[in-house]
Amino acid sequence: MQHKERICILGATGSIGINTVDVIRRHPDKYQVVALTAHRNLEQLKLQCEEFRPQYAVLPEKELAQELESFVAYKQLDIEVLHGVDNLEFVASHDTVDTVMAAIVGAAGLLPTLAAAKAGKKVLLANKEALVMSGAIFMDAVKHHGATLLPIDSEHNAIFQCLPERFVEQGAKQGIEQCGIHNIVLTGSGGPFLKKDLAEFATITPDEACAHPNWDMGRKISVDSATMMNKGLELIEACWLFDVEPQQVEVVLHPQSIIHSMVRYNDGSVLAQMGNPDMRTPIAHALAFPERINAGVAPLDFMEISQLTFDRPSKERYPCLALASEAMKQGGNSPARLNAANEVAVEAFLAEKIGFTQIAEVIQQTLTSTGYAEALTLDSVLAADKEARDFAQKLVLQFAARS
Ligand code: NAD
Ligand code: MG
Repeated sequence: MQHKERICILGATGSIGINTVDVIRRHPDKYQVVALTAHRNLEQLKLQCEEFRPQYAVLPEKELAQELESFVAYKQLDIEVLHGVDNLEFVASHDTVDTVMAAIVGAAGLLPTLAAAKAGKKVLLANKEALVMSGAIFMDAVKHHGATLLPIDSEHNAIFQCLPERFVEQGAKQGIEQCGIHNIVLTGSGGPFLKKDLAEFATITPDEACAHPNWDMGRKISVDSATMMNKGLELIEACWLFDVEPQQVEVVLHPQSIIHSMVRYNDGSVLAQMGNPDMRTPIAHALAFPERINAGVAPLDFMEISQLTFDRPSKERYPCLALASEAMKQGGNSPARLNAANEVAVEAFLAEKIGFTQIAEVIQQTLTSTGYAEALTLDSVLAADKEARDFAQKLVLQFAARS
């Protein structure tokens, strides 16, 4: 019998988690779910436990884990329910796991994703914040522990698909210049406010910011897409994944989200990866790599696409993009501080404590007022994250008090 690939899904109940489950469900002969983790969405996790009967189910909070345990007992399912953040790392590095889908949102995903890399797993990386915070440490762990890293973010998955085979096989060891590559073109839709009057930005509501024109995603990344901090985080992600400088990554607005990103070669060729905007494509690509499997995604119908357009992102509309690019150029702990401030600001915006335009202000002030240092160890990264988070929280309180 063919050995099934054993999968752990970190963040199984989120948008990426649910899309992952959807792809896996189509291929019961190839994949077996052995661990599922979630945060608060217990009802979704119960459904997934019943359907896939994993060996482990993990929730950070004890009370929710107890509730799941009662459910598992009632349904007579053979699932071990664990709680606590340490157990996220435990399942991500467990012997019975071959592949880890890292789909927890934000800094909370860093330690379990790193644990998977250190255990030499095949890591399907959706959790871009982990790489933004600790790029050098994470890439080092991948290299030294023989892990395989495959990008799930649609842009990076697209770039990966457009890179030459020798680059992909040897990782970034073979630099992009040696492969005849001029630069990487990162496309972004511009989000829901591409054409909105700048004078109305201050009164944007969370629901408006989360209504992305092309993608259905979790709320945090939806706000990041509206500010284009998402593209900024992706620029940093691309630098680490493909070993390039921020100057070698060109951000291009492409509102239709059909071209997911491109690689520009020195001979004048530009390779693009296209498809309907559906995360099941990159998920299926990474799951099956180097094979191809059915993802359940509708074929791209060129007759339906009236046009593909491109534009330059405006600095006034998207100040977060420049903040991210600057943070990457600065290096050290700046990307970690940027990410922490952004997480705090987005959460405060979603809770209606600050306005949309104050997200960039919180990040900018946090970056100038907290300490730059080299990001040499995990502890120093976590300390920078904490300092920036605390500072950003104080700013949020000040902004909220003023309004
Ligand atoms: P989401 O909010 O829909 O889901 C997040 C998942 O993480 C949930 O399962 C939740 O239970 C879990 N989680 C949240 N906080 C946690 C905590 N403190 N501890 C443990 N688990 C926790 O988010 P999403 O849209 O699925 O995004 C997940 C990641 O993938 C993000 O890093 C995002 O940037 C990235 N990503 C998402 C998309 C997309 O289309 N949704 C595309 C590209 C990249
Ligand atoms: Mg993306």
